[in-house]
Amino acid sequence: MPSKGLENAIKSELPDVEYRLCVKHLHANWSKRFPGKMMKDLMWKAARAANVPYFEYRMQRIKNVSVEAHEALNRIERKKWTRCAFRLEKNCPKLVNNWAEAFNVFIIKARDQSIITMLNNIYHTIMNRIDKECQKKLRRKGVGYERIDEVLRKREEKIFDLFTRPSGSPRCEVTSAKHIFVIDIEKRQCSCGLWQLGRLPCVHSICVYKSRNKDLRQFIHKDYLKSTWLTIYSDFMEPLRGPVF
Ligand SMILES: [Zn+2]
Repeated sequence: MPSKGLENAIKSELPDVEYRLCVKHLHANWSKRFPGKMMKDLMWKAARAANVPYFEYRMQRIKNVSVEAHEALNRIERKKWTRCAFRLEKNCPKLVNNWAEAFNVFIIKARDQSIITMLNNIYHTIMNRIDKECQKKLRRKGVGYERIDEVLRKREEKIFDLFTRPSGSPRCEVTSAKHIFVIDIEKRQCSCGLWQLGRLPCVHSICVYKSRNKDLRQFIHKDYLKSTWLTIYSDFMEPLRGPVF
């Protein structure tokens, strides 16, 4: 958990930034009082819940096992740790801050050095990284980047238990063994909450696209396209002269 000082500083200096906790670290603290794999699974399922009814259901499951564990989680603002309360316009359903941690590991050797050497080393490490990522993306054949193709492929494998019911409008129903979801193809929304949260088609919307013989790749948000990725990495770090040449 971050210190209160850091949280207050972020609130005062970056008031419009959405502030979330890393669920991995949140669980590490919470599990000191409520250990075990079962508790871990219960908490992560509540964190991953992309809609309020499912979140409430998951919290009730925690309460059934431990009222104290439920109260401890309930004291944390929902918008900081569970997907059902995240801001939609961010297009980011991430629950952990491993990007920041990976960057810290990335620069850890440089951090022990004197200031100029440290900055030079960080600069060159990032310069190499951008070049490497760019070359990798240029070689890639698909329209999206690697992880996205993998996520969509796994979701496509789950559509066989679903049934689509069109309504004549852009909205339709998708029925699973237990639930009915409403999809709005034009607004790209699903009542499961996942589609609008990450801007990547959920399993229910994939079912609708497939039933209409649409190519799913056309509906990937631009944030996930190889072309966007290349644009991000096109902002190169310029080579720097040494002290003499
Ligand atoms: Zn859905």
